[in-house]
Amino acid sequence: MAPDRLLMNNYGVPPVKFISGNGTLLLDEHGKEYLDFLSGLAVTSLGHSHPKIAEALANQAKTLLHVSNLFDTEPHIEVAKSLDELIRKETGIKTPGRVIFQNSGAEANEAAIKLARKYQGPGRHVVISALRSFHGRTLATLAATGQPEKHQQFQPLPEGFQHAIWNDLNSFSSLVDSSVGAILLEPVQGEGGVNPADPGFLKGIRNLCDEHNILLIMDEIQAGLGRTGKWFGFQHAGIDPDIVTCAKALGNGVPIGAVWATEDVASAFNPGDHGSTFGGQPLAASAAREVLRTMIEIDAPALAKSRGEELTNLLNGVTGIESVRGNGLLLAAELNSEILKEHTGPEIARKCLEAGLVVNGVTSTSLRLAPPLTVSYEELIRGVALLGEVLAGAIGEKK
Ligand SMILES: *Cc1c(COP(=O)(O)O)cnc(C)c1O
Repeated sequence: MAPDRLLMNNYGVPPVKFISGNGTLLLDEHGKEYLDFLSGLAVTSLGHSHPKIAEALANQAKTLLHVSNLFDTEPHIEVAKSLDELIRKETGIKTPGRVIFQNSGAEANEAAIKLARKYQGPGRHVVISALRSFHGRTLATLAATGQPEKHQQFQPLPEGFQHAIWNDLNSFSSLVDSSVGAILLEPVQGEGGVNPADPGFLKGIRNLCDEHNILLIMDEIQAGLGRTGKWFGFQHAGIDPDIVTCAKALGNGVPIGAVWATEDVASAFNPGDHGSTFGGQPLAASAAREVLRTMIEIDAPALAKSRGEELTNLLNGVTGIESVRGNGLLLAAELNSEILKEHTGPEIARKCLEAGLVVNGVTSTSLRLAPPLTVSYEELIRGVALLGEVLAGAIGEKK
């Protein structure tokens, strides 16, 4: 029988086809309007169709699209400079680090793991990450992802990955031996359910790394670039990372990833050690350059902080929501037992979509909310009202 869809089924059958977007709003093929409180999984932090990013892309497309990484171009040099400054803000790292560009989050983590292995040398290749973490879908980043159920069908995965309990320093230190070269952590577990790291835990991890010459890699792919109310999530704990990976919001939807490392660590990569045909190419880097300029201009972290507090307060007033967790505009709303008697998080997310609100069921019991950092207070009120109506309708209703 001929398939009814030409796309592989790994994302299931999407319920909606979106045609266009503007700011926080999306329009589907039938002209129905949605409030986007997910931002393509924390990607479009400056909203859809941002005029300055559209213009930067159009200008770059007319100027220079590609020359390979054997040559310099303007946009990626400027992005590296600005990323370096933002990452070192609020840290004790006085000298500039260095950046290597990739095309996605998983590739950025993959490059970070290779850099850590090269720096540490043979026999110090083990990376410890956390249970319930998410670091990507390539074979090595899947091995680093602390969700054993996702590993099963793809064995054998690359060796040298171990998992410890999230926010549990003893669990991490009990795994440390001379083979451990790096600890890889998200500052907030995003896909794992929006679970922030305790600042004390991250400080303890930093000390553990210092004691044993282990590199600390912060995966800022989802939490970085203003979303949690600081430029980077690790800055909430006041620690200095050795390596930082970012992607998602860096291009506001244009694929680009980056690995930053201190000068000392970065110096481990020599010509030929790693590469990417498209990583940091001018079109993607022109988007990232405009994203960073705009985020600095509007003080994106401050917006995330104040809008995040407003959204938290609004959500706390909704019947059906038990609690709210997260920082800034990376939040999860835990549903109460009355709702969960009849529905799961993903089922409620589906009802929200029908009502015109895009969120996702990040766990079986909770919804993730990650609106653009440019969302207005009025849009927050409208979105939370839609969620309130969905939850009111769901109470007592049979599946
Ligand atoms: C999304 C995500 C990744 C993977 O990024 P891709 O661009 O999908 O490869 C890695 N780490 C974290 C924390 C993420 O949220």
